[in-house]
Amino acid sequence: MEDGPTYGFDTLQIHAGSRPDPVTGARQTPIYQSTAYVFRDADHAAALFNLQEVGYIYSRLTNPTVAVLQERIATLEGGVGAVCCSSGHAAQIMALFPLMAPGRNIVASTRLYGGTVTQFSQTIKRFGWSATFVDFDDTEAVKNAIDDDTRAIFCESIANPGGYITDLKAISSIADSAGLPLIVDNTSATPYLCRPIEHGATLVVHSTTKYMTGNGTVTGGCVVDSGKFDWSANDKFPSLSQQEPAYHGLRFHETFGALAFTFHGIAVGLRDLGMTMNPQAAHYTLMGLETLSLRMQRHVDNAIKIANWLEEQDAIEKVTYAGLTSSPYFERVKEICPRGAGGLFTIALKGGYESCIKFVDALEIFSHVANLGDTRSLVIHSASTTHRQLTQEQQVAAGAAPNVVRISIGIEDADDLIADLKQALSAAK
Ligand SMILES: *Cc1c(COP(=O)(O)O)cnc(C)c1O
Repeated sequence: MEDGPTYGFDTLQIHAGSRPDPVTGARQTPIYQSTAYVFRDADHAAALFNLQEVGYIYSRLTNPTVAVLQERIATLEGGVGAVCCSSGHAAQIMALFPLMAPGRNIVASTRLYGGTVTQFSQTIKRFGWSATFVDFDDTEAVKNAIDDDTRAIFCESIANPGGYITDLKAISSIADSAGLPLIVDNTSATPYLCRPIEHGATLVVHSTTKYMTGNGTVTGGCVVDSGKFDWSANDKFPSLSQQEPAYHGLRFHETFGALAFTFHGIAVGLRDLGMTMNPQAAHYTLMGLETLSLRMQRHVDNAIKIANWLEEQDAIEKVTYAGLTSSPYFERVKEICPRGAGGLFTIALKGGYESCIKFVDALEIFSHVANLGDTRSLVIHSASTTHRQLTQEQQVAAGAAPNVVRISIGIEDADDLIADLKQALSAAK
């Protein structure tokens, strides 16, 4: 299908990037379980290796099933191109890799997925990179954190897990004034609820493991490029603006224009870092994406109903869902995520840490797992699991204090979920 701007989201989530298989007529995208692709002749091979012709060489770089997924996600996000990777964390490294060098830093929100805080505060130091964490509601603090070595600004649209919504317009205008790319992790919102590029994001990253696949089957990630950033405006981004020795001095931005970041991600990122998505994973994610809008709408409908119910319960100290009128982000959500605040929120129990442990153990429909964005409802006590490596101060900043339970509302019957929560709350007393 040719992707016209006239098609709606529900059509694009099923058709973008795919067409019937030209050889067999297969209507569903085949799983191209092949490592390598035959060259027409030696000249064809040379052209592919010189990046003079686009085509398939080897599945660490490109694979036809993965390519369909890349085009579909790029279309849903309103980007020009996308690179899929083996996980959401791989996508974050793939997004930063062309921008960074030893001594460079990123300015990141304190409100991030726990694993991302660990990746940015610990692991990236081994590459000589660093992150400065600030409260993204304090726009002055964001501006002040930027220095000559800053190469990107990083945040989540709906921040996991604290029901926090980033003012993407305010942050993107700071990034613009500083001449820096804004990278937005859109995992919790998905492009159905939020399209960060429309709010000024340069790059969008995803853990496709979550809502995009939707049923907890495979890990995956994706980096989407808006195609809007001028990588050659100054000498800050030499990987994209300067000559690349491994491709005979080719300059990615000059040669590929708006697709520079995407081509670099494949031709250098996947080639040398090898964080490739496999075609089976791409197949599962393509299947999930076909129903993304239907699932997200139900996640939102269930979440608002359940969050309202929870807020009324005696055992509950606080529910942090941006869809609730009590949320400080209630107004912002209408602008950033007009279709709803997602399916993820946290509750704080008056009973504290011990009560949380009893509560998660008593739940029957909800599973206690380190995942979110599944069709089935999930909970996790973040402080004793995903956010365990963080200091108590970092836990509180990330919305994962010891008396907090993160809830990922599934698409089951809301009344059944409420009944399960009710019995677990009484068991937790
Ligand atoms: C899960 C998650 C990640 C990491 O993704 P993986 O696929 O587990 O590597 C990053 N950001 C957010 C918001 C997530 O929920």
